[in-house]
Amino acid sequence: MSIFSHPAYDKHEQVAFYQDAKSGLKAIIAVHNTNLGPSLGGCRMWPYADDGEALNDVLRLSRGMTYKSAMAGLKLGGGKAVIIGDPRKDKSPELLRAMGDFINTLGGRYITAEDSGTSVEDMHVIGERTQFVSGVIEGSEHGGDPSPSTAYGVFVGLKAAAAHRWGKTDLSGLKVSIQGVGNVGFRLAKLLKEAGAELYVTDIFQDNIDRAVNQLGATAVGAEEIFDLDVDLFAPCAMGAILNDDTIARLKVGAIAGAANNQLAEERHAEVLREKGILYAPDYVINAGGIIDVYYQQQGIREPGKSYDPAQVKEHIDTIGSTMQEVFQRADESGETTAHVADRVAEERFGHEDTLKNDTAAA
Ligand code: NAD
Repeated sequence: MSIFSHPAYDKHEQVAFYQDAKSGLKAIIAVHNTNLGPSLGGCRMWPYADDGEALNDVLRLSRGMTYKSAMAGLKLGGGKAVIIGDPRKDKSPELLRAMGDFINTLGGRYITAEDSGTSVEDMHVIGERTQFVSGVIEGSEHGGDPSPSTAYGVFVGLKAAAAHRWGKTDLSGLKVSIQGVGNVGFRLAKLLKEAGAELYVTDIFQDNIDRAVNQLGATAVGAEEIFDLDVDLFAPCAMGAILNDDTIARLKVGAIAGAANNQLAEERHAEVLREKGILYAPDYVINAGGIIDVYYQQQGIREPGKSYDPAQVKEHIDTIGSTMQEVFQRADESGETTAHVADRVAEERFGHEDTLKNDTAAA
């Protein structure tokens, strides 16, 4: 298996492999870039078909974290961990403790947190072996779960999108469709309902749909129907790659602003959206509320004596609105896609070598 010539390898600083025969742990940690600070990113547990799939995922996700933290104005780099295994069958306290030992070997260059397949409880177990774990915070309202902050950040970014697209600062009457009303999607739906929006929701689990219909008065729609609705704004909050040739051709919305990671099936789809006049809020900019929360959960380690302050976290998450505005404005001025503008701003912030080289060449 190649690393340095791997298609998803992007000058990653470090890729570490670990296996613990006793607990059955097989894991990879990728540290993409630490120019701005230690790398932080979730620990995903997934039944990858093979090692290659796990490597591809960790390389891609860790790179994404560098861009996300840079855009969120955090003194963090990008990293990610993957555990190869089925979280419902293969997870055990021994395996999580071994993961803690693995994280500890990196000496703080990588800090972990929750991701798909891992929970707040799992972070507590990993934390028995390493201090480099976030997403656990005793006595807080959310116990360390970043989802409420992610939802709030998406709400802030969505408002910026509505303001830019329709000059609307108030969301009342805005028709919003939400794909996936899970941890983030449901909380976002609640905030939108409070702001007076009209909601259309879908999910693959009927009880999640029922919760949104019964508690928020949302209209339930089919999993495929969500792409054909005559609504103003689409909020993807389920999975990645849902903006593709098929779905974009069907969408009638004026803007897309949602929590899901890697929404564009391919980079070129940002241009397809632009040509169709659909304003796209780049995913890693709008869904940074969670990483901002997790960053402040580490406050006591960075600055002994200081502790997690929800008001400070909210203030920082509110900056997603102005960052989003800046991206939209620069895209309008340059004629580039919002996704491309976001990448460029992030690269300027973390000092991506290629961007620096281009700048030097241009100078
Ligand atoms: P979740 O698993 O709680 O919710 C996802 C929901 O989408 C579930 O209810 C699921 O049933 C539904 N879903 C899955 N496939 C679907 C489909 N084809 N059609 C309709 N619904 C479908 O996850 P979450 O924590 O709410 O995260 C949602 C998205 O936001 C994910 O892409 C995640 O990577 C991203 N994200 C989450 C956070 C966070 O803090 N949780 C932070 C950043 C990004």
